[in-house]
Amino acid sequence: MNSVTVVGAGPAGLASALTLAKAGWSVEVYEKNAAVGQRFHGDFQGLENWSHEEDILQTLTRLGLQVNFWIRPFHQATFYDAQLRPHELQTRHPLFYLVRRGDVEGSLERGLYRQALEAGVQFHFGSPVNRVEGPAIISTGPHFGDAICVGYLFETDLPDGAWCIVSQQVAPRGYSYLLVAAGQATISSCQFTDLPRWKTHLEATVTAFRSLHPFEMKNARPFSGYGNIYLQRHLQVGQKRYVGEAAGLQDALWGFGMRYALTSGVLAARSLTDGQEEYPASIERELKAHQQASLVNRLLWEALGDRGFSYFIRKFEAPRDARPLLGKVGGPHWLKNLLYPIARWRLSRRGRYRYTSCDGEDCTCVWCTCERSRL
Ligand SMILES: Cc1cc2nc3c(=O)[nH]c(=O)nc-3n(C[C@H](O)[C@H](O)[C@H](O)COP(=O)(O)OP(=O)(O)OC[C@H]3O[C@@H](n4cnc5c(N)ncnc54)[C@H](O)[C@@H]3O)c2cc1C
Repeated sequence: MNSVTVVGAGPAGLASALTLAKAGWSVEVYEKNAAVGQRFHGDFQGLENWSHEEDILQTLTRLGLQVNFWIRPFHQATFYDAQLRPHELQTRHPLFYLVRRGDVEGSLERGLYRQALEAGVQFHFGSPVNRVEGPAIISTGPHFGDAICVGYLFETDLPDGAWCIVSQQVAPRGYSYLLVAAGQATISSCQFTDLPRWKTHLEATVTAFRSLHPFEMKNARPFSGYGNIYLQRHLQVGQKRYVGEAAGLQDALWGFGMRYALTSGVLAARSLTDGQEEYPASIERELKAHQQASLVNRLLWEALGDRGFSYFIRKFEAPRDARPLLGKVGGPHWLKNLLYPIARWRLSRRGRYRYTSCDGEDCTCVWCTCERSRL
């Protein structure tokens, strides 16, 4: 029987593992934490549904993943600009699906974990891995923080809803959100710069949302998380396939990485099981154009600032169904292809952690991708 090691039990690793096991492979997953999902805290996250025409639930079915986790469709969200003026976005198909993340009942991770167990995957918890031999899926998530999200989970009397503030003052180069479902809320400030002043931005976020919708935060628990934006040159190094955020596969504009994680996890597994398409080629086909467009979107957003956002959000407000326009404006375009080298150059100017102690020969390091030695 073919065997493979999966390092990291986030969405990308779990999607890989269960796909491989369903195809009859012997799969061992090593997770550094004591259970799945411990990187998160039971917070709400959005499985975005505007970047592709196909509904994300259909995409998951096409990828062979069941929706056996808690999920709630949202057809509406209110965006506030820097002056806290509201802009309503409505969609005919869901704009996004709310999911729960973490080691909690109904979470995305618990659902995928159950599917993996049923498929016969073996798990080793509390097992950080730094080196791996043989065929491996590296799904260790982000390795540095280009962006941080800090916030609170709390109980509330607010009605279900999704609210987002885009203001440099509240979340520099990022955004703040308040998500409520069934009396549970997640409030957060996602900052892409000025990270050391996160406390100030979090306070500004809470104050701004409270001025819009007065609410009490019952049983408030703080949480935080981080993500990275970078472009890995090699998705595959020797027998190692990098998936999800460990491969730099992430939406550079908003940080909606779940679609990238789940898709890349399955594609990496399929490149092993059916061998019909090389893994990098499948990423090129399914994700690359959108990821590159998202990087250009970030470049433009940072250049245009609050005024630019205010101008654009009004365009999305007008139609009854904002989803097609969101997909069109946010998606790939030849003009973005032209701007992409600039966006890439700008990204490369950011300070970056680099693993330098590897000589690249027969590398088995989990994180090192030996890019330097292979160029
Ligand atoms: C606060 C926050 C809010 C977010 N909101 C959204 C959202 O609304 N929508 C969206 O689409 N995305 C969102 N994201 C991004 C999304 O959560 C990530 O892109 C996604 O989880 C990436 O999945 P992954 O499997 O690649 O990595 P992860 O989910 O990070 O999983 C990696 C796993 O590997 C384990 N691991 C790491 N190193 C090792 C090692 N050496 N050995 C063994 N195990 C290891 C970790 O413990 C972890 O379990 C958010 C991120 C944060 C931080």
